[in-house]
Formats: sequence, structure tokens, C-alpha cells
Amino acid sequence: MRLIFLGAPGAGKGTLATAISKRHELPQISTGDIFREAVKNETELGRKVRGIMERGELVPDQLTVELVRERLSRPDVREGYILDGFPRTIPQAEALAGFQTIDRVINFRIDEEVVVRRLSGRRVCRSCGAIYHVDNMPPKRENLCDRCGGELYIRDDDTIEAIRKRLEVYERQTEPLIAYYRERELLRDIDSSRSVEHSQAQIEEILSALGSDLRA
Ligand code: ADP
Repeated sequence: MRLIFLGAPGAGKGTLATAISKRHELPQISTGDIFREAVKNETELGRKVRGIMERGELVPDQLTVELVRERLSRPDVREGYILDGFPRTIPQAEALAGFQTIDRVINFRIDEEVVVRRLSGRRVCRSCGAIYHVDNMPPKRENLCDRCGGELYIRDDDTIEAIRKRLEVYERQTEPLIAYYRERELLRDIDSSRSVEHSQAQIEEILSALGSDLRA
């Protein structure tokens, strides 16, 4: 299964991509995680994208597409994958269509108000990348990861200004992808304003319908 998770920042794509990836043994490919890792390791890519990310802007299409193209050429994605955070613009989607056939696009629907609340309470594990929320999904021990004991931190782009900017960028550049994939009959909507379990159940339903389609 080749899947795309589409949605505003804070819609829950990353959390759900991790859960679905584990359950279905599909590699999760998060361009945001790849860029953050590069920034942390101070690689050449990291130096290029650091400022862009801190401001909440998008990394240039060409750079992002090449990175994904390389990642999707590796053997572990042969059986499928989840793209989390890519594509984010129409040119990225068009480039992707040039080298991959996608089976489904899951569109995470949510109100902006909920998103701002979620992002401003988000905490991320510095070691393994696990995602928490101070109110909705607190770790068992304050500021420590349940999974690996790593330290939790606030992402540089989870400040109020960067959150506003990311939402504006989402509306202008990414939202048009909803119509793009709907026209191609690949899009399925889920309501992601409730719990992780609620989102997961909706996705599982879409995937089992897709499974029957693919077998037919
Ligand atoms: P969120 O969905 O919470 O905004 P991500 O982790 O997906 O966070 O992305 C963080 C940042 O990484 C984005 O704001 C952007 O700067 C960069 N980025 C991630 N994916 C892409 C992409 N497909 N195209 C361009 N920039 C990207």
C-alpha cells in the first residue's frame, strides 16, 4: 500500500503515521523528520533548511522532491509506505506522480482553533521523535519519553508566530492538493479532531476497503 497522509500542521498526521506504520509494517517517510534530523546533525542539507523551517516556510520543491525520490528508491519501500508531510505543494504532487503510483490519500480534517491548541502543547522526544501533548497525551513522567526515557522538547517551529505562518502556508500551498487528489479519486477524508483511537479506526476502515479493492 502506497499511502499519503495529508493535513494541516497539528492534524495528527505524524502520530497516526507512526501507529499505522507499526501495525501494517509500512515504512513511515516523514520529510519533516528527515529535515529535522539533518538540522540536528548539522549536515549540508541541515544548514540549507534550518532557517526556512524555523520561520515555518517550505523547503524548496526541487530539494524536497529529490530527497523523496532517493528515499523511495530504497528496497525497504517495495511493499509500500506512508508519506507523512509530502507532497505539500502541487508541483511536488506532480513530480511524485512522475515516478510513483499512489493507492490512497488520507485527508485529516480539523478546525484551525484545535490545531493551534494542539501545536502549542506539543512535546517531542529528542532521542526517538515520539510525539506527546501536555494535556491530551502527557508522558507518564514529566518531560521524559515513555518509550525511551529521552528528554522532551518544544520544536523550534511550534512558537505562536511560526504556527500562524505554517497554517497560512498550508492554506495557500497544501490545501489545493485536496482537490487535486479528489479529482483523481484517491482522496478519503477522516475527522481528526477527536482522539488518536478515533482517527486510527477511521483509517483502518479506509485501508481495509483499499485492501479489498487491491485484491479484486
Ligand atoms: P508540521 O506538519 O507539523 O508542520 P512537519 O514535521 O511535517 O511539520 O514539517 C516541518 C517543516 O519541515 C515544515 O514547516 C517545512 O519547513 C519542512 N517540510 C516538511 N515537509 C516538507 C515538504 N514536503 N516540502 C517542503 N517543506 C517541508
